[in-house]
Amino acid sequence: MSGLPRRAAAFPTALAYPATMRAPGPWRVGIQAGHWRVEELPDEQHRLRDSTGARYGPFREADLNLEVAGRVADLLRSSGAVVDLLPARIPPGYRADAFVSLHADGAYRAGARGWKAATPWRASAAARELREALAGTFPRFTGLPEDRYGTTFYMRGYYAFSPHRYEHAIDPRTPAVILEMGFVTVGQDREVLFGNPQAAALGIAAGILRFLSGHDPYDRGRMAVTLYPMMRVAAQGAELLSHPGRDALRLEELPEGTLVRPLHRENGWFEVMAWGSYRRFGWLSEAALEPLAGAEHPGGLVHGQVRFSPSAWPSAPPRIILEA
Ligand SMILES: [Zn+2]
Repeated sequence: MSGLPRRAAAFPTALAYPATMRAPGPWRVGIQAGHWRVEELPDEQHRLRDSTGARYGPFREADLNLEVAGRVADLLRSSGAVVDLLPARIPPGYRADAFVSLHADGAYRAGARGWKAATPWRASAAARELREALAGTFPRFTGLPEDRYGTTFYMRGYYAFSPHRYEHAIDPRTPAVILEMGFVTVGQDREVLFGNPQAAALGIAAGILRFLSGHDPYDRGRMAVTLYPMMRVAAQGAELLSHPGRDALRLEELPEGTLVRPLHRENGWFEVMAWGSYRRFGWLSEAALEPLAGAEHPGGLVHGQVRFSPSAWPSAPPRIILEA
């Protein structure tokens, strides 16, 4: 028996904390091996059961994803994290401190090679930080270039990111990124990824650790998604750009009056989806947009979302309303 007095009986045996609050404990990370056990997808995602991934001769994306994911899981576990190595089927409302889905590309675009990483359409500050952390470390370990203009609406609208459509999807508060590690169909990328999957795994694990080292799991505002009201293009010749800045591709000109759904606001720019087509997305200058009078949010708020008050636009910061 220890000489210390036993005081525990003076305290309650279970501490109550709100069910939505993260319990203290090690970091929890979900690593999804894209297309792994795709045949086990639930009925609501039955159309995706034949999505077996890219291949080039004997080289299969699904094998690569699983190989790298297993190595990432080992690296993170050796750093003290609890890791869920996840197949295509996501546990309903999956919550973790970070979720990274691993894929490799097979689509062909002339000259395209390298990696790209994307957040869900509506991304929390934490999700964007996770993306930036991976974008910083993955190329350092692999030497692979960024496929800068290759992000697709399939990535942004990835099924596992879509709790509004599916029960088997992540909780919107889970910071999430999908990483296309490179092209299975490009020899130089294959050499790196299949030749040295540990380099890819190190680049991914390092990015996740970098993100977690600056992550506050109790700052719920960082994990919340901001909802913006619909806006309209209020200028002639408004250009939809691939990135918010000068090195952007001009995607198209949006006619005055075009309705857009804002996704994110940053340094005088709005990332938007043109109304009616999630295939048309990019960045518009804030000066080219105006809010619609009386724009409201249909359906009200859901957990972990931040509402951007239309009346306060454009000068005031968003009014933050967090639900438990
Ligand atoms: Zn894939």
